[in-house]
Amino acid sequence: MSIQVENISKRFGKFQALEPLSLEIPDGQLIGLLGPSGSGKTTLLRIIAGLETADTGRILFHGEDVTRVHVRDRRVGFVFQHYALFRHMTVAQNIAFGLEVMPKASRPGAAEIRKRVSDLLEMVQLGHLATRYPAQLSGGQKQRVALARALAMQPQVLLLDEPFGALDAKVRKDLRRWLRSLHDELHFTSVFVTHDQEEALELSDQVVVMSAGRIEQVDTPQTLYAQPDSRFVLGFLGHINVLQGEIQAGRLSQGDAWIGLPESTLPVGEAQCYLRPHEVRLQLTPEAHAHLPLRISAVSLIGAEVRIELEADGWQSPEPWEVGISHAQYNEWQPMRGDRCYAVPDVGHLFTSE
Ligand code: ATP
Repeated sequence: MSIQVENISKRFGKFQALEPLSLEIPDGQLIGLLGPSGSGKTTLLRIIAGLETADTGRILFHGEDVTRVHVRDRRVGFVFQHYALFRHMTVAQNIAFGLEVMPKASRPGAAEIRKRVSDLLEMVQLGHLATRYPAQLSGGQKQRVALARALAMQPQVLLLDEPFGALDAKVRKDLRRWLRSLHDELHFTSVFVTHDQEEALELSDQVVVMSAGRIEQVDTPQTLYAQPDSRFVLGFLGHINVLQGEIQAGRLSQGDAWIGLPESTLPVGEAQCYLRPHEVRLQLTPEAHAHLPLRISAVSLIGAEVRIELEADGWQSPEPWEVGISHAQYNEWQPMRGDRCYAVPDVGHLFTSE
């Protein structure tokens, strides 16, 4: 089921929560709405669901205008951050609930309901907990029940609002992977809201980056990360190292720091150069194409690589620099707080803007 958002806007009193915006969601994709708090993600999701009315525009499901179709008739499944399970019902009863209260004409028979619930329990790997009550479940298990309950109605579209927001980091990661594989198996069209870049990049086929009621960019995670359209998207998708300076004679320079630029890049004047942590190497001596003296302010050994935090040495940087080095390089170099070194950018990855 494809979804088209056409010229949708929304105002709450004087506040414009969504500027007129349009979006095409292809059938079977998992789409992340990513943006800072207040950027309008939830409002857009609620308008797609039919829980909120837009001031302008239309929503189409598979080419059909559903703008005025009631939420109940849109065949949309929801999962919210707070599970909203019925406390006095078991896991199985929670999953069956939506089916049991359907109008008699469309309600499946009792045997069919039992079969659907048992299939869903298996799918969300909770068969052994069918008779438990929500209070006896962990957060991750509750969220899987909420998902099974949404899927029981065989929705055409699944909408998730910060579904893993209330869970701790490890459970979040596991559930993310699990949702992705469930999605690949069932191929429903889903839209989920998150303000977590890592979550959006890991889970989505396409990410819709929002800011102040606008769509900034829609792209695959790979393209967004490698070719951001704007300074906002670039900065929102992870740490960036910045050299802010003046372009002159083929160099971007400030104080003791400079980076050589390919001849054709930019006119003379003020400019900024942005580098992701993995687009920079650290060395004890500068290279011919760049001179970026830094002083180490912190070394963190946690994770797959060693993260080095650095301060500009002889020039100004709005924020500390961050560079990841391999454990092998760490062992050889043994960098310490206060040590001096040079950043060597991979020139091919320079993102420059005036
Ligand atoms: P968060 O990540 O914090 O949930 P969001 O990107 O989902 O943020 P929305 O919940 O869509 O943002 O809200 C967008 C803006 O609209 C916010 O500034 C919010 O305060 C405002 N807003 C949302 N719902 C209402 C409402 N019912 N009445 C008035 N203002 C609202």
